[in-house]
Formats: sequence, structure tokens, C-alpha cells
Amino acid sequence: MQSGTESVAEFKRRKRTFMLRGILPVCVFVLLGCTVMVWGLPDNKPVVLAANLFIFMAGVWFVILAKRYYRCPVCEKVVVPTKDDGTPSEISFGIAYKPKVCPYCGAALSEQRDY
Ligand SMILES: [Zn+2]
Repeated sequence: MQSGTESVAEFKRRKRTFMLRGILPVCVFVLLGCTVMVWGLPDNKPVVLAANLFIFMAGVWFVILAKRYYRCPVCEKVVVPTKDDGTPSEISFGIAYKPKVCPYCGAALSEQRDY
């Protein structure tokens, strides 16, 4: 088992990779989709359809990249949001925005600060 600081540093690296390969292309795709949408509205249906496809693909890309990179360095499970009692939520397809610990193995994922 890795020490807390190691898992924090590794998760930080993974998060940065996810930002670069996941969030950045998604922003470009959505922006592109919106631009095409504005161009095609109000009645150029094939163009609006293509724009919707762009935005849909951005969503699919986001989910694929999140599942690939947004993982706990210790147990390799996708870091998902937790329910109120601290157990992983199975129904959510989202990812935890700022996880402090892994919902599965409890490894530290970000620096614990006392404010
Ligand atoms: Zn874990």
C-alpha cells in the first residue's frame, strides 16, 4: 500500500492528464458545436443535426476519458461521487469533483487542509 502523500501526488498527475486530454477537447468540441449550431439555425436541419452530434460526441469523449484517467492510484477504481453515508454511488455516471479520499479504499487523493 502506498503512503498518503504518494497517492495524492499520483492522483494529481492523473487529474492533470484528464484535464488536458479530456476537458480541453470537450470544450473545443462544444464550442465548435455551438458555432455550427448558430450557423445552421433556424432552418438548416442537417447542419443543426451535425452540431448536435458534435456536442453529443463531446459528452461521450468526456465519459471515456474520465473512466480511463480519473482513477484511484491505489485500487485503480474510478473515483465516483459518494452518497451521504460515504459509500460510492452506483447510479451516478459522474466523477467526484474534489475527492479527499477514494470512496472504495480510503486512500488520500488530495491534501487535507484544516481551515
Ligand atoms: Zn482506491
